[in-house]
Amino acid sequence: MCALAATSLIACSQPGELPIPKSPLEECIYQTNKTSFSVWAPTAQAAKLRIYETATSESPVMTVDMKLGRDGLWKALVKEDLKGMFYTFQLCHEGQWLEETQGIAAKAVGVNGTRGAIIDWNQTDPRGWEADKSPEIKPSDIIVYEMHHRDFSIHENSGIKNKGKFLALTEKGTRNPDGLATGLDHLKELGITCVQILPSYDYITVDESRPDVPQYNWGYDPQNYNAVEGSYSTDAFDPYCRIREFKQMIQTLHAEGIKVIMDVVYNHTSSAELNGFERTMPGYFYRFNPDGTWGDASGCGNETASEKPMYRKYMIESLEWWVKEYHIDGFRFDLMAIHDIETMNIISSRLHAIKPDIILYGEGWAASAPLLDPSEIALKVNTWELDRIGAFSDNIRDAVRGPLDCSNAGFMDGVEGKKADLMFGIAGGVYHPQVSVPYWTASPLQHISYVSCHDDHCLRDRLNEATKATEDEKLAMDKLAQAAMYTSQGIPFIFNGEEVFRHKYGTKNSYCSPDSINAIDWKLKTRYSDLCDYYAALAAIRHAHPGFCLGDASLVQEKLEFIDVDDPCVVAFRINALEGIDSAKSLTVLLNGSKKLVSIEIPAGKYNMLAHNGYADADGLAAYEGSYISAGPTSATILAEE
Ligand code: CA
Repeated sequence: MCALAATSLIACSQPGELPIPKSPLEECIYQTNKTSFSVWAPTAQAAKLRIYETATSESPVMTVDMKLGRDGLWKALVKEDLKGMFYTFQLCHEGQWLEETQGIAAKAVGVNGTRGAIIDWNQTDPRGWEADKSPEIKPSDIIVYEMHHRDFSIHENSGIKNKGKFLALTEKGTRNPDGLATGLDHLKELGITCVQILPSYDYITVDESRPDVPQYNWGYDPQNYNAVEGSYSTDAFDPYCRIREFKQMIQTLHAEGIKVIMDVVYNHTSSAELNGFERTMPGYFYRFNPDGTWGDASGCGNETASEKPMYRKYMIESLEWWVKEYHIDGFRFDLMAIHDIETMNIISSRLHAIKPDIILYGEGWAASAPLLDPSEIALKVNTWELDRIGAFSDNIRDAVRGPLDCSNAGFMDGVEGKKADLMFGIAGGVYHPQVSVPYWTASPLQHISYVSCHDDHCLRDRLNEATKATEDEKLAMDKLAQAAMYTSQGIPFIFNGEEVFRHKYGTKNSYCSPDSINAIDWKLKTRYSDLCDYYAALAAIRHAHPGFCLGDASLVQEKLEFIDVDDPCVVAFRINALEGIDSAKSLTVLLNGSKKLVSIEIPAGKYNMLAHNGYADADGLAAYEGSYISAGPTSATILAEE
């Protein structure tokens, strides 16, 4: 029981009326002669700060009673040099002391993230960090590569020293056993320009104190939104190490011309009971059903409440922190439809003010209906209302690779009935007079074009499950599928290892599967070098031809013309009148999902053939002059008019 009854200081008790601090939420500000602490809990009756020698020591070296200010923050000032120490808060609500917590906004933490670390931020920067600059990348050059730190480097064939670590992405010259590039060199070869890293904030399920034990998790179980995950650092016990190494990774990627997009999961927390939100302000940060049970649109036991003023402020400041301190270039919002549109648009405005070319997109869906009106949330169908925030397109995904139930492999396997959604995706989801599917983007840059990601089957597993084709036929389908993504007006997005035909033994949800399932075996690059080269050529073609990314709905309506083809498994289109936009006068693409050779008429002219029958080359496979083009079974043809 706590003796104090401080609620009288705060006149209001409804969540909407709680005092919201005007200044940014800073729970720990270190200076050499003093450290100030604060924690937001306006309805708490008492609060204590505890200082510990280490992240795991049993007894505190100091316990301080905190004082409540009118802004709802409990505060304490310790006039000593606390560098290297750790802290927790403990709050008393309704006469009961809750469990200790590191708070909700800890930026540095000890091992496993259960205590905040008191550090000198001046000592967290790697050499040269002050000169770090994000590369400038035109929208038409954005190609996203989604990767998990462990998938990417943990396999013995990666040739990478810092396996499964942030530092893996700082190593140059790494090779597979056959001398082919892996790691950073591989990414450059592939022509991708953005890596989207799976959750790299501090999540809960991997025990950071046991680096000797192989452990795996995707990390969709957030613990500290503002702190870096420890298990990807070389020393999770040293609070500086994870911060410095994460910055080193970003710095190296930036120097190599690659942007860094972070996967963020503000829609739910790992366990509400264990989380700082519930241990500071129980019931405030989440949504609840009318009967008092937890809202669960995340499917993970809880859903957060972005519409509440303090959570909205929290999300905004957390994202700003990653951009300002770590120079992050973009965010992928997990289950974005749990967040309200108003919050997302404020986020966009605030982040664009810091970084005008910030890249923002998310999943326009939730695991089940969130506890807000569908018109208020960032659902895919509401994407046009979002300000410079995109959404993953399950339209193009399911059209090309087949439905979630795996009953067929879609357009790439010659399944009929997929053309409309593929055309929708080619147009980047905007209104287009030849597209029958209702638009949901206002700009094609809001359309993430993908056939697979970490969720569900990777592309090869999908092919194995959904078609009886031979391996050569599956490779042809894979190429056709990605040719559609790379020539779409949306943003192409690929999943790590897909380019070397990686598979996960058919595992759909490998979120905690062992390395034997999730690791990319880089020997595959030798065996499937032809496929990998094709992906790289598609990227080079896109980089050479900005006509594939017009970036504006009216330009897409004006210049993109679908060619009428009387075949249910063939989609063809031209992007016309590209003077001033592209080195080519026009671009023509023929996507043949059928099992037979097809030919279509085109305006007579001189063309450079960039892709044909499973081959692709940005410089051109051959010159071509004529008034028709053909594509063999399951293949893409791309022509640039000279
Ligand atoms: Ca962790």
